[in-house]
Amino acid sequence: MQRLPFSIASGTLVPLLLGACGVSDAGGEARNVLLIVVDTLRADHVGAYGYAGETTPRIDALAREGLVFERAYAQSSWTKPSIASIFTSLPASQHRVLEESVANRLGDDLSTLAELLGQAGLRTAAFVENPHVVSATGFDQGFERFEGPLDWSHDDWVADCDVTAQRAIAWMDECGSEPWFTYVHLLDPHDPYDQGDFAQVEAADWSESVAQGKVIDLLDPSTDLPRRSLDPEELRQLVALYDDEVRHVDAAVGRILDALDRMGRREDTLVVLTSDHGEEFLEHGRLRHGYHLYEETVRVPLIVSVPGRGPERFPERPVRHVDLAPGILGSLGLDVPEAFTGKHFLAHHETPGTGLEPVVCETAMRGLWRRSLRLGRWKLLRDELRDTSELYDLEKDPAEERDLGELEPEVLRDLETLLGELRRPRALSSSPGELEPEVLEALERLGYSGGKVFPH
Ligand SMILES: [Zn+2]
Repeated sequence: MQRLPFSIASGTLVPLLLGACGVSDAGGEARNVLLIVVDTLRADHVGAYGYAGETTPRIDALAREGLVFERAYAQSSWTKPSIASIFTSLPASQHRVLEESVANRLGDDLSTLAELLGQAGLRTAAFVENPHVVSATGFDQGFERFEGPLDWSHDDWVADCDVTAQRAIAWMDECGSEPWFTYVHLLDPHDPYDQGDFAQVEAADWSESVAQGKVIDLLDPSTDLPRRSLDPEELRQLVALYDDEVRHVDAAVGRILDALDRMGRREDTLVVLTSDHGEEFLEHGRLRHGYHLYEETVRVPLIVSVPGRGPERFPERPVRHVDLAPGILGSLGLDVPEAFTGKHFLAHHETPGTGLEPVVCETAMRGLWRRSLRLGRWKLLRDELRDTSELYDLEKDPAEERDLGELEPEVLRDLETLLGELRRPRALSSSPGELEPEVLEALERLGYSGGKVFPH
């Protein structure tokens, strides 16, 4: 197993990521939980997030009735660490599910959302199309039924969102009046952009690879960079094929929601829809995802339907994937384990928010070790192996095109200090007074006081 350049004892906590631990906040009348993860779905390709391409009529309808978190973040830019963060409420450097190798498993010692919901009496099932999220990598923990993709080899890989949705619907039906947790993970927007058909027809040349949405064929295998630049028409074609996948998966999401209505379960089911990461279309020189932590790769949709709660949009306050499990547990009136680092983001007292929660994203794909920290308007990107940093002002420069590292050296240094602190192993602590003085000073310079960031 490849060694990573850090060492963190499991079970340690980072104060900045600490949420309202142990909160038991009885929410609406949710008995069931439906978690839908649409793989590789960029927030800005969803109608409810302003996309004009009419990709997501069914997801948009869910958004009109539910809560829409406009600043939602995955904790990584690829599937395995991202899903592990959803289930454990830990950032990637703490759950340590970072590598592509099947040997890098979700640890049995970690508490997962599925285990906790199972212990609370919910029946639990997962219907997952992504081959990183399988029993072999430990993701079946806590699931009474776990249906993953059939095989690791693409030849036998069945990823058909219509079939997967049907399996999930049959399961929910089968549960009858018993409460359940159902996790559905649909893969369609992931490349190749061919509407879920993984038949390996060789593309003859570059333009055919573009036409078939076979992004991987466009890349140099040694660098994963495009073998040559794409012209605007080729890029438009790829984006259009991606959007077709999004439309296809949106219809499957609609069928699941229709089934929920038919079963009369909409009124007592907490529905959470998100993605595990976004996708790049050459905004920063690459295609696909996992290499970078720019916004297009980590900003995801997050739409939640809470029984008994009307529609609302949250434009400012960041919500992170580590917040999902505390929010789900809290909404069901269940305790959130102290080891969970996220916040019960659905609690009424949490939702107005300050817009200042720190958002940490990390990726170690292909031997990289990159981390990012978003704090208010600022975003720091670190390449830890090269020891280089970039700094962006997302208010003025949402596309992250103008590195301000040299113009704003103090902000850069303060964010580097904070991100460094967030990597350090720490004993369980919720007291801001136990932070290093230089970190407290950095926080103050960035407009924080203890009460804004830290739990009381
Ligand atoms: Zn993914």
